[in-house]
Formats: sequence, C-alpha cells, structure tokens
Amino acid sequence: MTREPAEPLWLDYLIKAGTIHSMTGETYRSVGLHGPEIVAVSPEPGGLDDLAGGGTAVVDAGDLTVLPAFADSHEHLMEASRNTLLVPVDKARSIAEFTGMVADAAQAAPPGEWIVTSMGWNESSLAENRMPTGAELDAAAPDHPVFARRGGHLAVANSAALRAAGVGADTPNPPGGNIGRRPDGIPNGLLEGGAVYQVMAFAPATSRADLAGALGTGSAAYAALGVGTIREAMINLDELLAYQDAWRRGLLNVRVRPLIRVGAELTADQALALVDGLGVASGFGDDWLRIWGLKFVLDGGVEGGALEQPYANDPANSGHLNWDPAVMIKVCTEAVRRGLRVGTHAAGDRAVRTVLDVYEGVVATTGGLPPWTLVIEHALLSDPAQRERAVRGGFGITVQHALLWNMGGEMLVTWGPERTRQVNPLDEWLALGAGLAAGTDIVRPFNPMTNVWGMVTRGTKSAGIQGPEHAIDVATALRLYTLGSAACNGEADRLGSVTPGKLADLVAYPLDPLTASPDDLAELTPAFTIVGGQPVHDPDKRLAR
Ligand SMILES: [Zn+2]
Repeated sequence: MTREPAEPLWLDYLIKAGTIHSMTGETYRSVGLHGPEIVAVSPEPGGLDDLAGGGTAVVDAGDLTVLPAFADSHEHLMEASRNTLLVPVDKARSIAEFTGMVADAAQAAPPGEWIVTSMGWNESSLAENRMPTGAELDAAAPDHPVFARRGGHLAVANSAALRAAGVGADTPNPPGGNIGRRPDGIPNGLLEGGAVYQVMAFAPATSRADLAGALGTGSAAYAALGVGTIREAMINLDELLAYQDAWRRGLLNVRVRPLIRVGAELTADQALALVDGLGVASGFGDDWLRIWGLKFVLDGGVEGGALEQPYANDPANSGHLNWDPAVMIKVCTEAVRRGLRVGTHAAGDRAVRTVLDVYEGVVATTGGLPPWTLVIEHALLSDPAQRERAVRGGFGITVQHALLWNMGGEMLVTWGPERTRQVNPLDEWLALGAGLAAGTDIVRPFNPMTNVWGMVTRGTKSAGIQGPEHAIDVATALRLYTLGSAACNGEADRLGSVTPGKLADLVAYPLDPLTASPDDLAELTPAFTIVGGQPVHDPDKRLAR
C-alpha cells in the first residue's frame, strides 16, 4: 500500500477489481486515481476506502482484471487515421469488390480527380490472394488517376496516375525503389519502395484540419482495443503539424510519440539540413504528444527486404538497401549529437547487418549512448551473430508479431518456410538480454490481445503456426507491450505499470490474461480503457460518474 499524503487526498476514481496486475510482479485489488495519475494501490478491495470522498467515482469491477494499457511501439496512427477518409478497400474480400469500390468513388468524383484508397489492405484478404493490377484499376476508373497504396512499401497505380506523375517507359527506377514493367518496358502500375513516394507526391494531400479530425476518430479506435500509447512510426513535418492541431483541440485518445521521416531520396546534405533545422530534440512535448526522434527506412518489406540469401521465389533478387551506410552514419551521428533518437526500419538480415554497421559507426564517434537511443525497427530476419551485436551495442529492437500474423503467407512465398519460421525469434533475443518493445505496424486498429496470443502461440491469420519454438509466455508478452515500450519511449518512470506516481493508463478485461488459456486471448476485448485518468473507452458505462 502506498498512500502517505500530508493532507487528505480525495480520489477521482477508486477502482476495485478482481485482480490488478502491476506488471512489475505485484497484484492488487484496488487502485486510486487522482488527476492524470495513479496515486494509490492496495492488495485489499477496501484498502483505499478512506481516500474516497464525495467526488470519488467508486468502480466495482470485481469481475474484471486490470492491466496497464498497451503501448504500441511501432504503429502508423496517422496512416490508419487518414485511411478513414479514403476509399475503404481494406474491407474488400475480392478483386471485384476492390475495383467496385474504386469505380463507385470515381463515379462520385469529377473526371481527373484522384481516387486514393486506404493503405490498410492486404491481398491475403482477397479471395484471389493477389493485388489488383494497374489494368484492372484502369478498367474501374479510366478517367481518374487511381492510387492504391498497400502497406508501407507497395502500391498499384492506374495509367492516369502514372501519367500524372510523369512515369513512363523511359522513367528510371528511383533510388531504393522499383517501377514494375510489362515485358515491353511500359510501367504496369506496380510500385515498390521509393517509387511509391514518387507517384504519391502527385496525389492531393489531405488537409491538416481533416487529418486532425481523423486522428480523433482514428485514435479512439485504438483506445477501444486497450491501447494507451502509440509510437507513431513515421510522419513528415506537415503531419507533425496535424498532430499538434489534434493535440490542441483535445482530440487525441491515445498518447503519441512520433518519429520524423528522413527520406532516403534526400541527398546527404539535404538530410543533414533536415536534422539541423528541426529545432527540437527527442523528448520535446508533453505527456500526450512527445517527439520520439527520427525514422530511416533502410530496406523494403516482405517483397524488398535486403536479404543475405536470395528470395525463395526469385533467385536473382536479394532485395535492396535504400541508404549508403557511410551517409547514414554521418546523418545519424549529427542527429544523436543534437539529442535525437534514431529508429531504422530493417526487415531483412542484410539490412540488420548494415544497420548494425551504421550504429556501431555512430557509437565509435559519439561514445556510449543511453539504451534506446539507436533502435532497430522490425529485425524480422536476423542471425545469432547479429543479435549478439545488437545486444552488445545496446540497440533496442521493436518487434511486431502482427506482421508475421498478417503476412506469413507472403513470407512463405518470398522468403521460404525456413526463414519464415525464424521471423522475430523473441525467445532467442530475450535469452541474450535484448531490449525489446512490442507493437503491430499493421496500419489499422489491431487487437493487442491477438498480438499477445500470436507471441505466445506463434499463430498467424492464414499461415498456421510458424516457428512454435520461438513462443514466449503471456506475462513476458504483456511486459514487452507495456514496460518494454515505455523503456523504448524513455518513459519507464512514467508509464508501463500500475504504480503510484505513474500515469493512469489502464485497461480492464473480463478474464485474467495471465491465467486464461492462450486461445481465449485471441479475440479478447476490453471492458474499458482509461488514459490519463479519463475514460477513453467505456461501452457499458462502468466508469460513469
Ligand atoms: Zn512501420
């Protein structure tokens, strides 16, 4: 019990639950909230009763288990929020439904207006299990540029969109990107890596006011799944302004820790100028919106990730690196000197090896850095020597079982079964003492408990169990998703556990995840979510005052 205020402190909320897991080893039966913080805990349901005054809402939740709210260490809230304003092809279940939605949107728009789809879709959700082609988008909307972005690294564009972007048979592939082509050299609409951004630059941007509003509804959907903090894995400076608008208007339902993109299309001088001109360091902001640092994207994803061995379905291809390591060392060193943390997307094992070279090169100049200053995002494929180097260097890793869950089928095709079962071997990382933070990177509200189930079973959406030997236990998965992410955000003293003095971010479930059968977790959703001492999800009005 921790309660020693000098004068009576009346709680805003007194929550009495069946079990409250602190995530630091203790269990309680009651927790008291005042303002945005947890101020008291007790192992007894009635242990805090004398802190309840007339203004205290006493919540009888003996049927519920309370945990710290989840902190997603790698997700794209901005993109997921923007998706709510775009053609919702993530709901399509066949190519015909997909192109039908595009045709409907085109019907409602004057000719020449861009039709831009949600990026939160995946061909594995389509009956045909393939992406629509540029020709199919031409048929659906011949008079409108159509741009269908799929996740962070791929897109399909129709002919009008390619024309509008000036992409033709003579257009060379951009750095770190590939323009798909027919045998005669004419672009076929498939865009990968840098080519996605090359065409997207011509699509009209969503207005800042619309984006801020979308962040409100977008963040509410995450809060409804028990998420309290999102490390926003990549935004540009305009999007940072939209975040500030949403923050000022009080629209955010989750805390956000943004990473600002340093694009691989920049020259070394441009990248250095971006870093030198930012004028903020990591940690700037408040508890709701606080700058995490910078984001580099070193390779592609399941299709373009830089591999040590060639692709299983394309022996001539081993993926691509987007950055010259020497340039990246220079830019990252300058960033660290200016107080900025760096997160680098590295999916394939060749990219992981390269980012280790880069980070070791930075540390050779700067000297030792605090943990989580230099972070590897994903490290989907890694070998034992690389894992050893990462741990020795103190480089944290953000891990996303949700990627294997969502794209295990594609990985089996592109990387083959042996590499797929080795994706994110959390047990091996933990055995070495690695700093890990769990997240999703799935660009749509994703149930954290499905992710926990996946880390515990290695289960996937449609590719069965992949690498069951790498499973971890529920308590460990929950820790990586709370305390692990808090450490990644430099907020281990403020978030991640149910501890007096920490921020009151809590989630309650109708069963205890630590004693339930893992299979009961896959679809488990919260009874309520509290962020900063305020209800952000309370469908049954359990927290009504
Ligand atoms: Zn990402």
